[in-house]
Amino acid sequence: MNALLSRLQGILDDRGIITDRDEAEPYLEERRGRFQSKSRVIVRPRDTAEVQAVVRACISEKTSLVPQGGNTGLCGGAVAEADEVILSLERLKGIRDLDPVNNAMTVEAGCVLADLQAQARDANRFFPLSLAAEGSCQIGGNLATNAGGINVLRYGNARDQVLGLEAVMPNGKLLSDLHGLRKNNTGYDLKQLLIGSEGTLGIITAATLKLYPHPDQSANALVALRDLAASITFLGQAQSGSGGTLCSFELIPRIGLDFACRHVTGCSDPMTTPHDWYVLLALQASGDAIDVKILLSQILETAFEADEITDAVVASSEQQAQALWKLREGLVEGQRFEGASIKHDVSVPVSKVPEFIDRASATVAQRVPGIRPCPFGHVGDGNIHFNLSQPVEMDGQTFLALWEEINHLVHDHVAELGGSFSAEHGIGISKISEMHRYKDPTALEIMATIKRAIDPDNLFNPGKVIPAPDADPR
Ligand SMILES: Cc1cc2nc3c(=O)[nH]c(=O)nc-3n(C[C@H](O)[C@H](O)[C@H](O)COP(=O)(O)OP(=O)(O)OC[C@H]3O[C@@H](n4cnc5c(N)ncnc54)[C@H](O)[C@@H]3O)c2cc1C
Repeated sequence: MNALLSRLQGILDDRGIITDRDEAEPYLEERRGRFQSKSRVIVRPRDTAEVQAVVRACISEKTSLVPQGGNTGLCGGAVAEADEVILSLERLKGIRDLDPVNNAMTVEAGCVLADLQAQARDANRFFPLSLAAEGSCQIGGNLATNAGGINVLRYGNARDQVLGLEAVMPNGKLLSDLHGLRKNNTGYDLKQLLIGSEGTLGIITAATLKLYPHPDQSANALVALRDLAASITFLGQAQSGSGGTLCSFELIPRIGLDFACRHVTGCSDPMTTPHDWYVLLALQASGDAIDVKILLSQILETAFEADEITDAVVASSEQQAQALWKLREGLVEGQRFEGASIKHDVSVPVSKVPEFIDRASATVAQRVPGIRPCPFGHVGDGNIHFNLSQPVEMDGQTFLALWEEINHLVHDHVAELGGSFSAEHGIGISKISEMHRYKDPTALEIMATIKRAIDPDNLFNPGKVIPAPDADPR
């Protein structure tokens, strides 16, 4: 490490290297405190050339690197399991270009997602990627994890927002594929290989992103459902009735609303009576050819008549819309005050969501009487955060000791229904054993072959995503 350190000192400025333990702490601890890095060196290059120089120094000194964005990933992907160098992208914050005519912007990897949304808005454009961590996650991390969020229903995942990419590869070379082209059929689409690879194949330093017309109209409502099954029939009806303007459709269970109202300032139940299941939906449009408020009231009217929904609160101002969305964010925050929780980020075909929730809830309740399932999230994408709070009387650690067993019970249902055990947050280290258990062996073999071809010395983010072959329990 000493030889590497002196090389790094020749590349980076004073603020570019952190070795002091206290200063390093925010980079070492994963947000939920589940994983702790063993690194002694954090590097913070200022630009792509410095990233490249750091990678070359690490190649010479045979030291692995862990790329890190906002450190909001929840799977331990940005955690160094050995004394590896953590490379933070946080100083690569430049907007290299914003072209409203081409509806594209080229930005550096360390830009915070919320700042990019604001940059697009200032140019009367819209960047649709949106998630609760947007105030601290970075676009490089979003692309490395192929993040989802609340607008996937209409705009797709992070990978759908990318036109071009720049990345430093494990051999120290620069993959320079930044462009704003909508069509480019020139062989393998390498940017898509890197997106979602969680820092195992390349360090993303910049990207050209798609922009859209800024939606100047929106309509938001919190709706009480007749029952869980109605979430799917109501979704279909909202999609066909919204003329393509439906962008978010989020499931909220009663227990989640209770968690938010009980623990989070500013959250209160806007309805007079409690209901078991709710959906928070948003319609957005640009221009005045369509009135989304009229569309929303027509959708709700039809759903009331069909007995799919039993109550609704429509936001009549931006402030009220924010208060409704605060309930969606507040349920996650509120759950932290309810003791230990075991979380799952799964997807199943949209039509199977109610069956999955019913089956998985019954199974976990049989295993742990008193367990409190709080399934919520992107039902419009078939993506449910199946979070389980500990029974009130149980000791938190005793509950957490069941993590793996409960994971398997839940993920077995997911697999039987043709779903995925990792819908949006990625694999990191936390789900690596599930890769062995549920991922197609041929797919795993191809992934390992690609990793070996691009990174033969296992320099970039070792131990993440692809399980070691000798760890296969099958
Ligand atoms: C409250 C909360 C809500 C969330 N909601 C959502 C949600 O709705 N949808 C969703 O998808 N996720 C969600 N997440 C998870 C997380 O925010 C996303 O995974 C996000 O994309 C991670 O970005 P980051 O910059 O924090 O990356 P990090 O956590 O720093 O890193 C994540 C992974 O990407 C790699 N990486 C980071 N930057 C780069 C780079 N420049 N080049 C190569 N590899 C890199 C890291 O090595 C690591 O493997 C949520 C997290 C929190 C805390």
